[in-house]
Amino acid sequence: MCEKSDLKRLPAFRFHPNAYDLDIFEVLDGVCQACNKPRAMRYIASFYAAEDVEYICTWCIADGTAARVFDGEFCAAIDSIPENSTFSFEVYEAEALEVATRTPSYFSWQQEEWRSHCGRPCAFLGDIGANDLPQYLTEPDFSADVNGGLGWNPELLQKCLGKGGDLAGYLFRCLTCGAHRLHVDAS
Ligand SMILES: [Zn+2]
Ligand SMILES: [Zn+2]
Repeated sequence: MCEKSDLKRLPAFRFHPNAYDLDIFEVLDGVCQACNKPRAMRYIASFYAAEDVEYICTWCIADGTAARVFDGEFCAAIDSIPENSTFSFEVYEAEALEVATRTPSYFSWQQEEWRSHCGRPCAFLGDIGANDLPQYLTEPDFSADVNGGLGWNPELLQKCLGKGGDLAGYLFRCLTCGAHRLHVDAS
């Protein structure tokens, strides 16, 4: 039996506050492969695991069950975490792990690149187009992202960046200071 009422009390994700508004879940009856419970909604964005996983529920994302059962991750890359870092930031690493194993990802062309700020992973807000850029350009770090910091031509971004377009923008916000960051990906 499916618990439709489940959909009224969905878990929240602090690093993905708009998770249920961004088409990364699909309303579909099925059995979650992580908890084996009948569910009414499955996750459909990235999940990196050795096994092909067709159906995982949002609760198994939120409590880490899906990542644990399948030894998988939802996010392949979080920027500014040096791969061979000799530093240890306990909170920082814990939050990076939360993004990788207990936070849904988002749809991008090549691969998601979670942004960070103030030494923490940012919250992913959603798609962003060229028309939305100016309101954040007064912020130095967002401006740096637009003005070549990500390796893209600034004029191109300010003209062609489109929500869900061939040159797609993704907006992040720092949970500590509120600054915005950008990820750009092309088809
Ligand atoms: Zn589940
Ligand atoms: Zn910040």
